[in-house]
Amino acid sequence: MFALYDTLTREIKPLAMREEGKLGIYLCGPTVYGPPHLGHGRATIVYDVLRRYLEWRGIDVRLVSNITDIDDTIIERANREGRPWQDITHKCESVWFDAMGRLGVRRPTDIPHATEYVKQMVAMIGTLVERGAAYATSDGVYLSVESVPDYGALAHQSLDEMLAGGGDREVLGAGEKRHPADFALWKFSKPGEPSWPSPWGDGRPGWHSECVVMSLELLGDGFDLHCGGADLRFPHHENERAQSVALGRSFARHWMHNGFVVDAEGEKMSKSLGNVTNLLDLLDHYDARAYRMLLLQTHYRSPIRVGRENLAGSVNALAGLDAFAARSRGLVAASGVEGAGNGGSEVADADTLVRFVELMDNDLDTPNAMAHVFDTVRRANTAVDSGDASAAALVAAVHEMCGAVGLKLGAIIAIDDDARAKAVALDAARAAKDFAKADALRNELQSAGWIVETTKAGTTLRRA
Ligand SMILES: [Zn+2]
Repeated sequence: MFALYDTLTREIKPLAMREEGKLGIYLCGPTVYGPPHLGHGRATIVYDVLRRYLEWRGIDVRLVSNITDIDDTIIERANREGRPWQDITHKCESVWFDAMGRLGVRRPTDIPHATEYVKQMVAMIGTLVERGAAYATSDGVYLSVESVPDYGALAHQSLDEMLAGGGDREVLGAGEKRHPADFALWKFSKPGEPSWPSPWGDGRPGWHSECVVMSLELLGDGFDLHCGGADLRFPHHENERAQSVALGRSFARHWMHNGFVVDAEGEKMSKSLGNVTNLLDLLDHYDARAYRMLLLQTHYRSPIRVGRENLAGSVNALAGLDAFAARSRGLVAASGVEGAGNGGSEVADADTLVRFVELMDNDLDTPNAMAHVFDTVRRANTAVDSGDASAAALVAAVHEMCGAVGLKLGAIIAIDDDARAKAVALDAARAAKDFAKADALRNELQSAGWIVETTKAGTTLRRA
């Protein structure tokens, strides 16, 4: 049974689904005002791995991930550059999905935009006001945190500690608030700013109201899993949850947060510290799979330092897997290891997969799961070299496991019929000790651009 650390209860517990076999996930998406940074890349890859793995396990996953396309930072940039704000959000959104595509992150099943849900947000805020949990000031409408009995449950902090720590978003309107931790649900617009009508005055929704409305609207009450980066736990997720409690609605059943990306000094990398590290830079300088590999070899809850050294380690690890893939895909005829070369028709070794599942089901333990993959590669190589009958099933298991976490290995090389026939003939010639003929066939294959490797298990063809 798949178990996950729950940030709310702080224990690893089975991910009990609202409807067996169907998982609804809400992932806080980007605010589209600038290029994606490494922290964005980490969150999207971690949850892409989770999604792919659970789908591989046969679970039907619906992943809702929003686009925050109205926000103070967007308005600020639009004013600074004298451009329409929609210009900025459209451009940044296309840059975002382009980068995610390069990272091998699949598009969410639903991508709600905050500006499409303003009516529903106004309705929700109205309900909160009616219930006495929200009030208007001269600059907006605020949620009263004192109306939420367990405010701070997700942050695991007292109200005082939370006020000292803060998040990476300011709460506005300190002056008239009833409590310093009260946060804006609706912000009145200044002249010239984008705005929507509301009973309290024209304005725009607060960030925390967007996600609570879109998640409940699309996934319904008591949806399965809410996730995001650790920097979103407070105040953003605490405040989302506070609204659902104040509404009397049941919110996420399980909370999952991935660790920070830190710089060389161990400081959290975030836009508020001004040390933004651009994900596009990483993609321009490294194999796009290197970041996924690095994250797979790190536990998702641990902080991670992304630097030249550990990325180089990931590139090496990938090279090892690619070489293995090239070798195993080219495996032909001779001694029962043909399956691996025929598009994965071979059945993967069951014990190897059982162990993989055990590791992954334990709070997505990808570092140990990857160690298991590399161990299987070693065993498969040994089996291929010695002509052991277990080779094909081990090779198939490596491909299964890599596929389950979204790691694409090498380029799939189609071996044409002519080359395959020559490789089979080469093995036959060697078996008959006709070495002159074997050499001639080898030369022909090499002239055709193949790298020919001969082991006891048979001939392997690959491209350089
Ligand atoms: Zn959110």
